[in-house]
Amino acid sequence: MNLKALNQNELDLRIKSLAQKEREVLHEVLETLKEIDARKSYLNFGFSSLFEYLVHGVGYSEGSAQRRIDAARLLRELPGVAEKIQTGEINLSQISLVQKAAREVIRTRAASVTAEQKMEVLENLGKKSYGQTQQQVAAFFDLPIAQGTYKKVHADESVRVEFTLTKEAFAKIKNAQEILSHAVPTQDLAVFLEYLADKVIKQKAGRTKENAPVHKANFESKDKMPNIANLSELDEVTANVAVNITDRSLTSANKRIIFKKQPCCQWVDPQSGRRCESKWLLQIDHKQSRWAQGSNQLGNLQVLCAAHNKLKYMREAGIRNIS
Ligand SMILES: [Zn+2]
Repeated sequence: MNLKALNQNELDLRIKSLAQKEREVLHEVLETLKEIDARKSYLNFGFSSLFEYLVHGVGYSEGSAQRRIDAARLLRELPGVAEKIQTGEINLSQISLVQKAAREVIRTRAASVTAEQKMEVLENLGKKSYGQTQQQVAAFFDLPIAQGTYKKVHADESVRVEFTLTKEAFAKIKNAQEILSHAVPTQDLAVFLEYLADKVIKQKAGRTKENAPVHKANFESKDKMPNIANLSELDEVTANVAVNITDRSLTSANKRIIFKKQPCCQWVDPQSGRRCESKWLLQIDHKQSRWAQGSNQLGNLQVLCAAHNKLKYMREAGIRNIS
């Protein structure tokens, strides 16, 4: 179509008609997402979450993916919202704000938010701007107006992050800065956050080292004992040496070896060959399960994310629908 040949009224009609089609397609997208979410079929394709699937498998931006997930999950609770989306009465950003506020109420007050409450707030959002919606949703749930976290990666890979803290959260951080002022003698929040991150990482590494039991008696000579304090030496330790420690329990040494070799989820979709590679909630899985006489030998161990570990368990147990 030659758009240049259209007069302004025809262009006006055309954009309104296309916008309506777009909303109808959006509704179909959300219904499809609802079904995918219920079946968790993205796990089979090698993704650890619906969000990962939409961003890396389907091609949505992170924000678009999250808004669609929020809306699809709201449709499950409130099927009546579909009509409001189709008519354009409410949009995805508004739904996302309501869902985010509900999560905040659950997180901070351990209180539940009913579908009726969500519907009540949505009823009054028709045609409201983003700012007006923010105010109205915050007032309804008695929450401070939340600003989303803004992240921008620079050319040198440094990252600019902007986020808003509640008065209470900010006071806690100031208090922590005062307590640690001898170690971090600056008010710079970025320096303080890096210090905290270093501390957590060091503590975690130290704890693993302390807990790793070394069963000298099970080794024929001291020379064969893996030096678990030195990660680079772990690569030299053969599976047999480490496994001789004991087969009855999964040792911390074996856990460290397997996490060093496999720092992410190893689930592979046999059709596409895609490996999940998620680093969230990693767990050690026995390829052949313990209840099926699977051993604690390194060759029988693999790292999976919690979602894929659960999927594997459900499959083995013959449970079809997972939640
Ligand atoms: Zn995974």
